[in-house]
Amino acid sequence: MSQAVYLDYAATTPVDPRVVEVMMRHLGPEGTFANPASRSHLYGWLAEEAVEGARRQVADALNADPREIVWTSGATEADNLAIKGVVEQRGGGHVITAASEHKAVLDPCGWLERSGVSVTYLAPGPDGRIDPRAVADALREDTVLVSIMHANNETGVINDIDAIGAICREAGVLFHSDAAQTAGKLPLDVRATPVDMLSLSAHKFYGPKGMGALYVRRHPDVRLSAQIHGGGHERNMRSGTLATHQIVGMGEALALAVAERDAEQARLAELRDRLWARIAELPGVHLNGRDAPRLAGHLNVAFEGVDGEMLLTALTDVAVSTGSACTSASLEPSYVLKAMGLADDLAHGAIRLSLGRFTDEDQVDRAGQNVTEAVTRLRDAARNRA
Ligand SMILES: *Cc1c(COP(=O)(O)O)cnc(C)c1O
Repeated sequence: MSQAVYLDYAATTPVDPRVVEVMMRHLGPEGTFANPASRSHLYGWLAEEAVEGARRQVADALNADPREIVWTSGATEADNLAIKGVVEQRGGGHVITAASEHKAVLDPCGWLERSGVSVTYLAPGPDGRIDPRAVADALREDTVLVSIMHANNETGVINDIDAIGAICREAGVLFHSDAAQTAGKLPLDVRATPVDMLSLSAHKFYGPKGMGALYVRRHPDVRLSAQIHGGGHERNMRSGTLATHQIVGMGEALALAVAERDAEQARLAELRDRLWARIAELPGVHLNGRDAPRLAGHLNVAFEGVDGEMLLTALTDVAVSTGSACTSASLEPSYVLKAMGLADDLAHGAIRLSLGRFTDEDQVDRAGQNVTEAVTRLRDAARNRA
């Protein structure tokens, strides 16, 4: 294993050892391994009981009814089910989303557009937030769905989903929010927030990869067309044998994250501020989204005169990324930062440092040192070439 400090928790998190332990009890021959849909033996009943216990854990985290939780393979599938499922059920219509959404929202929207559906992409403000009034202004007679993420994966900027949801509710339009970055980190209460669908991903809160859920409101009833057919599992919304070990892992992980949430978010905010104070000693640094409410663990920083990709290579003691795992293979500047109006050269020079449960003060100090040294070195080299 590399000794680099892991500061890419927004891309994924390791499974918490307490969660590993619960998952292990649902895998082997001595464990609760059976098909939860098997009704003819005790093995199956026990697996079903485990799955329903986890469904309650996830529902409780959202103040939802367990019948409102649909298991999926992750937030990508949950986003696809919400967006394509609503539009197909309605037989078309207009969709409103934002240019700064995750690809798991943008790509299904692009797919719908190619089949004739009209999609409006709102631009975030310079602070990274979507103005609720822009949502109101974009509503049309034929709008069937608004999809605006809770917090952005690159910048950690938090949208006002209460205000956006209220506008949608008033207009009688369904509201979906990708909450992959916020579940277990910010309070989420579907009885207080007028949101009709929420996408969750277990591996963003110390659960397993390949596991997620879509919250689907029952009152008023949200109707969705299934996107995966075969057996009618999950009240006909998502077929396929339920992955018992993954599901109990997600339930346990979310319950732990919620139980420890306030103390952990305060701890992360302190560590983040300590890291930022160190980095901010450098001249020509920009904290993207600094004027908006942001997640405690995120720092998206642009360095004048430094290329982000080169900086990533130079950062030998810290594992970070330029933003989204899906786009880090390309040399294009971040489309999220560009949508916020950041100039190309600054968007090129941005990296995301994201802290998490296993980050400590010592790691943050090492990371701060590595970043400041690497940036200084790259700038000196550029100056000498000029
Ligand atoms: C990670 C992430 C996703 C994708 O989730 P998967 O479970 O990996 O499919 C979608 N949206 C956001 C905002 C994310 O951060």
